[in-house]
Amino acid sequence: MAQPSPVTVHTPHRPSWDCLVCHEPWPCDPARDELRADHDHVQVAVYMWQQLEDAVHDLPPAPAVVFFERFIKWTG
Ligand SMILES: [Zn+2]
Repeated sequence: MAQPSPVTVHTPHRPSWDCLVCHEPWPCDPARDELRADHDHVQVAVYMWQQLEDAVHDLPPAPAVVFFERFIKWTG
Protein backbone atom coordinates (compact mmCIF):
# COMPACT_ATOMS: atom_id res chain seq x y z
CA MET A 1 0.00 0.00 0.00
CA ALA A 2 1.37 3.34 -0.98
CA GLN A 3 1.94 5.58 1.94
CA PRO A 4 2.01 9.32 1.80
CA SER A 5 5.61 10.24 2.20
CA PRO A 6 5.98 13.95 2.56
CA VAL A 7 9.60 14.87 2.25
CA THR A 8 10.74 17.65 4.48
CA VAL A 9 14.14 19.16 5.00
CA HIS A 10 13.40 19.07 8.69
CA THR A 11 13.26 15.37 9.47
CA PRO A 12 13.32 13.57 12.80
CA HIS A 13 16.33 11.80 14.18
CA ARG A 14 15.36 8.46 15.65
CA PRO A 15 14.97 7.39 18.32
CA SER A 16 15.27 10.87 19.82
CA TRP A 17 12.65 12.44 17.52
CA ASP A 18 14.54 15.71 17.59
CA CYS A 19 14.82 17.55 14.30
CA LEU A 20 18.05 16.85 12.44
CA VAL A 21 18.29 20.47 11.32
CA CYS A 22 17.22 22.61 14.25
CA HIS A 23 17.34 20.05 17.07
CA GLU A 24 13.89 20.96 18.31
CA PRO A 25 11.40 18.22 19.16
CA TRP A 26 10.00 17.06 15.80
CA PRO A 27 7.78 18.19 14.15
CA CYS A 28 9.49 21.54 14.65
CA ASP A 29 7.83 24.68 13.34
CA PRO A 30 9.64 24.59 9.96
CA ALA A 31 8.65 20.93 9.50
CA ARG A 32 5.02 21.79 10.20
CA ASP A 33 5.16 24.66 7.74
CA GLU A 34 6.71 22.44 5.06
CA LEU A 35 4.11 19.73 5.54
CA ARG A 36 1.23 22.18 5.49
CA ALA A 37 2.60 23.95 2.44
CA ASP A 38 2.88 20.80 0.33
CA HIS A 39 -0.06 18.64 1.45
CA ASP A 40 -3.66 19.03 2.41
CA HIS A 41 -4.54 18.61 6.04
CA VAL A 42 -5.88 15.06 5.60
CA GLN A 43 -2.63 13.89 4.04
CA VAL A 44 -0.69 15.57 6.80
CA ALA A 45 -2.88 14.04 9.50
CA VAL A 46 -2.49 10.52 8.06
CA TYR A 47 1.24 10.97 7.78
CA MET A 48 1.52 12.30 11.30
CA TRP A 49 -0.50 9.40 12.74
CA GLN A 50 2.04 7.06 11.16
CA GLN A 51 4.87 9.06 12.66
CA LEU A 52 3.14 9.09 16.04
CA GLU A 53 2.88 5.30 16.05
CA ASP A 54 6.61 5.02 15.43
CA ALA A 55 7.43 7.70 17.98
CA VAL A 56 5.39 6.00 20.68
CA HIS A 57 7.69 2.99 20.35
CA ASP A 58 10.85 5.09 20.44
CA LEU A 59 10.11 7.71 23.06
CA PRO A 60 9.72 7.29 26.80
CA PRO A 61 6.16 6.68 27.93
CA ALA A 62 4.08 9.84 28.15
CA PRO A 63 0.40 10.61 28.43
CA ALA A 64 -1.40 10.15 25.12
CA VAL A 65 -2.36 13.81 25.13
CA VAL A 66 1.32 14.76 24.95
CA PHE A 67 1.77 12.77 21.76
CA PHE A 68 -1.54 13.95 20.38
CA GLU A 69 -0.71 17.61 20.85
CA ARG A 70 2.79 17.23 19.44
CA PHE A 71 1.95 15.13 16.39
CA ILE A 72 -1.72 15.56 15.58
CA LYS A 73 -3.38 18.59 17.08
CA TRP A 74 -1.68 21.15 14.81
CA THR A 75 -2.75 19.28 11.66
CA GLY A 76 -6.43 20.01 12.22
ZN1 LIG B 1 13.61 21.52 12.35
